[in-house]
Amino acid sequence: ITEMPDVTDSEALATLHRVFGYGAFRGEQEAIVEHVVAGGDAVVLMPTGGGKSLCYQIPSLVRPGTGIVVSPLIALMQDQVDALRALGVRAGFMNSTQGFDERRTVEAEFLAGELDMLYLAPERLRLDSTLDLLSRGKIALFAIDEAHCVSQWGHDFRPDYLALSLLGERWPDVPRIALTATATRATHQEITQRLNMPTARHFEASFDRPNIQYRIVPKADPKKQLLGFLREEHAGDAGIVYCLSRNSVEKTAEFLTRNGVEAVPYHAGLDAGTRAAHQSRFLREDGLVVVATIAFGMGIDKPDVRFVAHLDLPKSVEGYYQETGRAGRDGQPSTAWMAYGLNDVVQQRKLIQSGEGDEAFRRRAAAHLDSMLALCETARCRRGQLLAYFGQEPDPAGCGNCDTCLTPPETWDGTVAAQKLLSTVVRLQRERGQKFGAVQIVDILMGRRTAKVIQFDHDQLSVFGIGEDLAEGEWRGVVRQLLAQGLLAVEGDYGTLVLTEDSGAVLRREREVALRKEPKKPAAARTGSSG
Ligand code: ADP
Ligand code: ZN
Repeated sequence: ITEMPDVTDSEALATLHRVFGYGAFRGEQEAIVEHVVAGGDAVVLMPTGGGKSLCYQIPSLVRPGTGIVVSPLIALMQDQVDALRALGVRAGFMNSTQGFDERRTVEAEFLAGELDMLYLAPERLRLDSTLDLLSRGKIALFAIDEAHCVSQWGHDFRPDYLALSLLGERWPDVPRIALTATATRATHQEITQRLNMPTARHFEASFDRPNIQYRIVPKADPKKQLLGFLREEHAGDAGIVYCLSRNSVEKTAEFLTRNGVEAVPYHAGLDAGTRAAHQSRFLREDGLVVVATIAFGMGIDKPDVRFVAHLDLPKSVEGYYQETGRAGRDGQPSTAWMAYGLNDVVQQRKLIQSGEGDEAFRRRAAAHLDSMLALCETARCRRGQLLAYFGQEPDPAGCGNCDTCLTPPETWDGTVAAQKLLSTVVRLQRERGQKFGAVQIVDILMGRRTAKVIQFDHDQLSVFGIGEDLAEGEWRGVVRQLLAQGLLAVEGDYGTLVLTEDSGAVLRREREVALRKEPKKPAAARTGSSG
């Protein structure tokens, strides 16, 4: 490299202005771009939405040759390439969705030096034909996106990523940049090792969003709770409400509008014109609420989103973090609010079990859900839990800006309650060979002679009525927290409750169970005083 650093620097900045139309780099972007433009290897940890793409897109444009981007997200490649082309970047991709002719065209463009960037699926790089092709062209850099996929301990392991270690051997002079939004310190080390990047510089952006206040309330009457939250704290503010299904998106948007909150729906079932209109209204107008499925938000860069509300449980902590991260980009105080209940857990477990995907996929999905539940049920600082999840050091004293810091939940010794509940599950299974869901178990515990209890003679069980000391809401809280603590599990299409490996220790009185108290007042009324 003969260029002076400030020359490459200004060239990078000029590219940022000219091609992408942005005024300045964000956070670590500048240092990363500078380092890679100068030929250095980099490992980048940055939250989703933090701006990882520019970290390799700009060096690809500034350095001679084609930037090769390895990404497992085949479904997004076409969109990414289209977006780049719209900016005048000569981009192409190669993956299994392509026909022969299409691939031939891309190959020819690459060899002729007519591509700034080429996106590849990782499995392509195992093929000799691909490696030969790359050897015959000029490569500006290798970008390895979603680099945590190389970790065999992670949720997203992809065997194809292991083969990427050969890139450094085969092209020792081409800089490599590995990027991820999820990495514990151990995964970070594994990335460095498995991708064989010992001299790479590490860039770690903070995942903390100090201006976002995290709050998770028990779900009772979610639409009403939401309305209370909006009226008391965010009247006239722009925000996003996430729901799981299209149907609840529609209903919630109607409900808000009827109650004087201007809201529009957004989901994949609406025609493209309506979607585009609602999105542009959200970007242009002050104080509009969008009620959406997770389809909404990709690439939305509205700085003054004052709240993100979840009426359904996100599938993973990554999803939760990404969605809530759309609030408060301008640094002003914002709220991430969620209502969450037992049905969310049961419903999501069902979705995982009856959904598509192989066993490994289901296990990963279940592990993702478990982490999300742990965040919901924690009695400690939510921000601390989030940061720890992403492998960053939380403040041991708490953040002072989440619900558990602001109003520390009381905990109680739930060992006896847990034993009662678990032994009811055991009794049903051992004595009757039956499995039931939470509703029936709680009815039995509370000694309720419902039609279904009578039908199955469950009032004859010795455990019938042993839980009269707790209210229904408290029992549902016990179930939720035992699920979150891995002391109870949900199974099958009917959401039946079953024991786990760890349940035995509680039943044998070898393990104590600390539970957080359910709030006495409805959550909607509470938000006013705690916010
Ligand atoms: P990631 O890959 O880390 O999830 P992206 O690269 O997709 O994030 O960027 C997220 C959003 O932020 C995009 O809409 C992008 O255009 C925008 N963005 C990134 N860097 C900048 C910047 N320096 N200035 C303005 N917007 C930016
Ligand atoms: Zn906190």
